[in-house]
Amino acid sequence: MARAWHLKSRPEGLPTSDNFELREVELPPPGEGSIRVRNLWLSVDPYMRGRMRDVKSYVPPFQVGDPMDGGAIGEVVESNADDFVPGDLVQHMAGWRDEAVVSARTANKLPDLGVPPERFLGVLGVTGITAYFGLLDAARAKEGDILFVSAAAGAVGSTVVQIAKAKGMTVIASAGGPEKCDFVRALGADQVIDYKAAPILKSLAAAAPDGIDVYFDNVGGDHLDAALAVARNNARFAICGMIESYNKAEPTALRFIMRIIAARIALKGFIVFDYFPRMAEFYAEMGPWVASGTVKSRETIVDGLEKAPDAFLGLFEGANTGKMLVRL
Ligand code: NDP
Repeated sequence: MARAWHLKSRPEGLPTSDNFELREVELPPPGEGSIRVRNLWLSVDPYMRGRMRDVKSYVPPFQVGDPMDGGAIGEVVESNADDFVPGDLVQHMAGWRDEAVVSARTANKLPDLGVPPERFLGVLGVTGITAYFGLLDAARAKEGDILFVSAAAGAVGSTVVQIAKAKGMTVIASAGGPEKCDFVRALGADQVIDYKAAPILKSLAAAAPDGIDVYFDNVGGDHLDAALAVARNNARFAICGMIESYNKAEPTALRFIMRIIAARIALKGFIVFDYFPRMAEFYAEMGPWVASGTVKSRETIVDGLEKAPDAFLGLFEGANTGKMLVRL
């Protein structure tokens, strides 16, 4: 029998372990065009909080009583599909469980870039694609820009810091607590703000006396407001995530929203899926950066399927440095 986490109930506010239930599931033998995969690594991501609400969005909500899903890396153990053989390592979306039968069309064989497989859930996966295209395409960031990035010790944020330095930007980054700030400084950020030590607006104004050209938003709320307050004319904001509001009934109000007009700020929201057709471009630049250590990867690893909800809930308490992963 396989085991899969199911959504037991919808949370109000911060989810708790009571909202999840681990159940045994019987797997059918793989039909024509399908493969059976034993998962090795599971991704837990902040966007999954949105899927626990019963609202229409860019990904369908989890249904109460149904298994949850998400990014995973696994090994093919049985194949009824051309081009897949037992032993192949694949990336697919039947996460939150130990084994799954999936259509081979929804599984991607990992390219041989000589890196550990879990990187394909991090800097060489959705995390990296989000950071790379969010910064360079959505925000149109370029050499010489002054960039502010929030949640900079997290998966996407720490990757943004490193790409921005590789591209010749000045990087101001924020993270929660002295240890995370040291980590972000070691990645090359020029200035690092501990947002828990003082109000972010005050710290950002001091760190960016000449303002910012680009803001990569992972947090929303007071961080977005502070970025609006210090933005230079024609600043570009990539609105990637607003984790500060994910567990609130209403998003935080913005005092400086009207600066969008006076400073002619361009705000661009984006969803990582939009960039999947450009994977070749991404691998061509990111692959060598990761292989050479220009872009380093850091993971926080939680062991065991039983711990998957704890790993997920930890994202909202800052329990992770770099990418939060579950190892099976
Ligand atoms: P992270 O690895 O950054 O983990 C979340 C981090 O957010 C925590 O470690 C914590 O860091 C910080 N955080 C949590 N609560 C708060 C808060 N109230 N205020 C400030 N910081 C907080 O996750 P990801 O890198 O996977 O995701 C980062 C953001 O990017 C999220 O908002 C996510 O939704 C978004 N995203 C968007 C995508 C898209 O397609 N648009 C794709 C992927 C991610 P700390 O200890 O420093 O507070």
